[in-house]
Amino acid sequence: MPDGSLHYPALVLNADFRPLSYFPLSVWCWQDAIKAVFMDRVSVLSEYDREVHSPSATMRLPSVIALRDYVPNRRRPAFTRFNVFLRDSFACQYCGDQFPTPELTFDHVIPRSRGGRTTWENVVTACGDCNLRKGSRLPREIKMFPRLAPVQPSTWELQENGRLFPPNYLHQSWRDYLYWDSELES
Ligand SMILES: [Zn+2]
Repeated sequence: MPDGSLHYPALVLNADFRPLSYFPLSVWCWQDAIKAVFMDRVSVLSEYDREVHSPSATMRLPSVIALRDYVPNRRRPAFTRFNVFLRDSFACQYCGDQFPTPELTFDHVIPRSRGGRTTWENVVTACGDCNLRKGSRLPREIKMFPRLAPVQPSTWELQENGRLFPPNYLHQSWRDYLYWDSELES
């Protein structure tokens, strides 16, 4: 098997040729991509120059593949820490600054000790400092209000937010299938 094989991920598109997911960007390792090609679950849209050999065949590694069967998006995204951060664009909803994920926390707008629930409508992204400062007080008691009223996002809204965060690695052949805001500006 080729050296550096980890460096040949395949971008995975849905049957409508849009990425299955923008953030994290839907990519498969080349082993999974080739398996799917042999099972006829995907079509290959673009290839790397790199080849792999088996006793009976030679094949170029796919760089962009599309599922043959359309996978519908879940209309209601899962309520996870990651999706809350993504909804809030990784920005503290009190001071407005962006932080890397490990430095972000969950804040209950109405604190749990005051009857607040852990729901899309009552949880926002907060940095450690703001979370500590707000403590178990109500927004009006300490004059700290979330910048955006927290609501349940749609899958589409999360995808849109994900487009603001292109990954570090983007193969040339992927660009035709991705729409990053930064690219549209240039
Ligand atoms: Zn903050």
